[in-house]
Amino acid sequence: MPRTIVIATRNRRKFQEMAAILRGVRADLKSPDDFGPLPPVEETGETFEENARAKAAAYARITGQWALADDSGLEVDALGGRPGVRSSRWGGREGDDDLNNRTLLRALAGHPRDAWTARYRCVAALAAPEASAPGGARVIAVTEGSCDGLITDQPAGSNGFGYDPHFLVPGRGCTMAQLPPEVKNRISHRARALAAMRKELEKIL
Ligand code: IMP
Repeated sequence: MPRTIVIATRNRRKFQEMAAILRGVRADLKSPDDFGPLPPVEETGETFEENARAKAAAYARITGQWALADDSGLEVDALGGRPGVRSSRWGGREGDDDLNNRTLLRALAGHPRDAWTARYRCVAALAAPEASAPGGARVIAVTEGSCDGLITDQPAGSNGFGYDPHFLVPGRGCTMAQLPPEVKNRISHRARALAAMRKELEKIL
């Protein structure tokens, strides 16, 4: 029987991207929703890696299955790498993309355009439940990926999520939100982190 792996995210759009990128992996990919109501998992780390490890371990412990988490976000050079790990709650309300995008443009006002360079970063972590391990789970693989871009104050496109309408992809002449999902899922930070994770999974499974 294929091994069950829980994709440890409550963000529906992110779940869809992760499931699409991992299509074909020899595992039964599940949503946290398949396990009924679960306690919330707080993100208290100062780095993407800390948060990805903590989320994967928490979901593995809670569900009793292997769990794959990603922690990701936007780093803008003019803003010294902000919002970084606070990307999903930068405006003050978790997961409010419109508010986060308004906060981004407000923070960039007054900064020269050539410093509006940015990148998305993603760290993926895979954890297995293990009663004897501290925290009840053991992290067995960590991978990462990034994707460079440029922030624009002219939003365009309705695919993707988060900052995608304001994230210009060099060489493509459009924003991440204008790319068809199958293209984003080949070139994004998440695609790169999960391509590396797919290799780890092929070795482990
Ligand atoms: P996380 O769920 O804590 O990893 O937060 C990720 C946050 O980073 C999202 O809520 C978005 O604000 C931002 N983010 C991460 N990946 C993407 C992406 O692919 N497109 C747009 N925004 C992203």
